Amino acid sequence: MAEVLCFGNLQLDILCRTVTDLPPPGGIRMIEAVDFALSGNGGSVAVVLARLGVSVDLAGCSGADVIGDQFRAMLTAEGVGVEKLRRHPAAGTGTSVIALAPNGERSIVFVNGANEAFNLDEVPDGWLHGPRLVAVTSVFVLPQFTGEKVARLFRCAHAGGARTLLNICWDNEGRGLPFLAPALAESDYFVLNHDEGRQLTGHDAPGLILDRLLERTAGAVVLTLGAEGCCFRTESGMERIPAIPVRASDTTGAGDSFVAGFIAGLIRGLPLAESAQFGCKVAAYAVTGPGAYAGIPRHKEEV
Ligand code: ADP
Repeated sequence: MAEVLCFGNLQLDILCRTVTDLPPPGGIRMIEAVDFALSGNGGSVAVVLARLGVSVDLAGCSGADVIGDQFRAMLTAEGVGVEKLRRHPAAGTGTSVIALAPNGERSIVFVNGANEAFNLDEVPDGWLHGPRLVAVTSVFVLPQFTGEKVARLFRCAHAGGARTLLNICWDNEGRGLPFLAPALAESDYFVLNHDEGRQLTGHDAPGLILDRLLERTAGAVVLTLGAEGCCFRTESGMERIPAIPVRASDTTGAGDSFVAGFIAGLIRGLPLAESAQFGCKVAAYAVTGPGAYAGIPRHKEEV
């Protein structure tokens, strides 16, 4: 049984470089190269955790297709446990096609595919008894990940002695705090970025965002602030952790790497502030390398 059980979406990124503009309908254009990378919030958080030396299982759903097989092989090579990855008989594996502009900007089209079929109600209680931390990512992009279903999962995880961590995505449909509230109430840690915080609370100031969210949970709320690091409330006020000053070349996956570093800190027994500091450190590796995790050293190397 792994120390961390991570629920979330998985995507295979097909990276087309470089694309200045699309050919007209019916046209074709040759590009330099096509690369592949694991992604999706669940996939990225799990890979970074494994790179940090934390034992982790990824719970999600792929298709029974060649991309799903490839995804499993890549996860296994990274050291992520895949026994809890379901294989949907009909839906395809989540896939993103990404056009990389010469300046590194990404234009993305994607399908959620089999990710949408992963039903949290079908998770056996036994999965939740054993890990030290249960994380749910991808809330708002996966239709099955409702506030109520995540809350049930977290209650079961708590009964098994695990801590719980919630991480969200941009809320395209504007379902907002009422949708999230049951899950938030059962979260020991809630990690979100500034845009998501603004959207959820209607406030811009980090302190006000934290206060609104802390009305809904007895857990800790950590707000990431891009190049400015992150912040959270303690009994003595608001604490800010600065980002590591680096020359960022690609901020894709910064949030996922932060979450993985933060979880790794908690698993190592670090207090909240030190775990957040470690999150910033791991995210700094991510933003200086291409894609979500290529810049993150494996745990045998120095982190
Ligand atoms: P998301 O990727 O979800 O939008 P953020 O942009 O808030 O999340 O980034 C998450 C974390 O990544 C930050 O808290 C910070 O530690 C780190 N980070 C992001 N951008 C930079 C940057 N330009 N330089 C250094 N660290 C960064």
